[in-house]
Amino acid sequence: MTNTSGWRLLVHGGAGVMPRGALLAEEEAACRLGLQAALAAGARILSGGGGAIDAVEAAVRALEDDPNFNAGRGAVLDRDGFAELDAAIMDGRDRSAGAVTQVRTIRNPILAARIVKDHTPHVLIAGPGAVRIAAEHGLEIVDPSYFVTPRREAQLKRALAGEVTLADKRGTVGAVARDAAGNLAAATSTGGMAAKMAGRVGDSPIIGAGTYADNASAAVSATGHGEMFIRASAARMICARMEIEALSAAEAARVTLEEVKLMGGDGGVIVVGRSGDWAFAMNTDGMFRGMIDAIGSRTAIYADET
Ligand code: ASP
Repeated sequence: MTNTSGWRLLVHGGAGVMPRGALLAEEEAACRLGLQAALAAGARILSGGGGAIDAVEAAVRALEDDPNFNAGRGAVLDRDGFAELDAAIMDGRDRSAGAVTQVRTIRNPILAARIVKDHTPHVLIAGPGAVRIAAEHGLEIVDPSYFVTPRREAQLKRALAGEVTLADKRGTVGAVARDAAGNLAAATSTGGMAAKMAGRVGDSPIIGAGTYADNASAAVSATGHGEMFIRASAARMICARMEIEALSAAEAARVTLEEVKLMGGDGGVIVVGRSGDWAFAMNTDGMFRGMIDAIGSRTAIYADET
């Protein structure tokens, strides 16, 4: 699976336990449409010669605005009933990175992460400080109720009653891209895990855990049980294995997810390497995912779909 020239974009909309038949046909169709819209948003940029960093931002922004995914509107709720959002973006050209965490009022956290990257000397800004800088740069600030959907309210009730398994509480969206000039970028955005403790931060906004990009190796965005992805430095390890051990994207992802699994964590990753080598990998029943390049696009949900 190597493409030495040309651009490529991969997206994910979360991994989890999703045996065939568990999703209603209309839910499945809505998710596939959402993935396609995200691919189209990024492809518009990449096919016109635009940069990977802009493409991953556009793809993740589209998924944040889609209530079917656990990011932006429609994100899972914490124990107190708030969507507390995390996002990160990284540019493989210079490994510049920006992230926000614990934000409840920024409509598109991925845009705030980009502002942190481009306009501050910092990498990760939390809560009110992140909202302030987002507002100063003209981002849309919304009431916390904007993010809340009836589906997530019902999920929180079930989660607090102990009726939801860990794997049902999750999701996350992400994108990785290689542009026509060979530059790599990664972006991830999430509401984290349903019924999480207030203030809990997962892997998504942690550079090296849920998000990483380096032109010397690869771009990676993860989804899964964040605590284990943090402990495994999962995204960075995939890049390191490709760079130092010369593993393929698929092999580096497989070995790293095995490590995560040994700690009790499950989930998945999307990877695109410097030479165009790419992988979808998961240790779950499925992961919402899609890929587009100059030849065409496709989406998949279940682990056994190619
Ligand atoms: N990784 C996310 C977190 O732990 C959740 C997920 O991807 O399902 O916050």
